[in-house]
Amino acid sequence: MEETFNIQAIILNRHAFRENDSRVLAYSLEHGKMFLVARGTGSIKSKMAGHIEPFCLSDLMIVRGRRYNYIGGAKSTNCFFGLKSDLEKLEVAGRSFAILNKIIKEHEVDHALFFLINDFLETLSNINKNIDFNLFLHAFILKLVCRLGYSPELYSCVVCRKDINPNGNYFDFKKGGLVCKKCDKNKSLTICEDSIKLLRFIIKQDFKNISKLHINKKVSSETIKSIIVFYNYNFK
Ligand SMILES: [Zn+2]
Repeated sequence: MEETFNIQAIILNRHAFRENDSRVLAYSLEHGKMFLVARGTGSIKSKMAGHIEPFCLSDLMIVRGRRYNYIGGAKSTNCFFGLKSDLEKLEVAGRSFAILNKIIKEHEVDHALFFLINDFLETLSNINKNIDFNLFLHAFILKLVCRLGYSPELYSCVVCRKDINPNGNYFDFKKGGLVCKKCDKNKSLTICEDSIKLLRFIIKQDFKNISKLHINKKVSSETIKSIIVFYNYNFK
């Protein structure tokens, strides 16, 4: 007897598989990241194909198989059309998915992460063109690494534990956060007060509020740089 179950999933990726099928990578609310097989999607008659496109949120009916879990039925509930009509947004979403594919393990359930990804796509899909897309992508990366348990310490010095004063601080990615002027011995990245505030804001706020920010180039690049070194140190 076949066993079936239903999931709500964000389609991260889809590739041709065997002669007429596809292999789908999805992030589901119920089971985390999953590899699934969809039969017959290579055929032009496939009704399912449009519901399992990358960047879609879909309700899927899964049939448990001996080797694979198969998609028995699919209905998309949000296709984030604002993303698909904009190459710049699509690139941001694509880069965020590449990171998810790389660092998220299969079958680790995390409801908050599911809603984080969904909120990111929803906001990206709806915002106007006038935002710093690179900063927005790195805001996602920072929120993702925090969700996975790697929150940088941004309020007290990671060496002497004293409160961080506004000026003269460093970001020591190896020690996991800010270091005050007195304690910096690793020649860490310098970080200005506005970048510290921005990092804190990104961690606390939702994507909608983050998308409303207008940040000058210097602060934006310094913030992005700290997120990149922190991410690379913990995940590369
Ligand atoms: Zn210190």
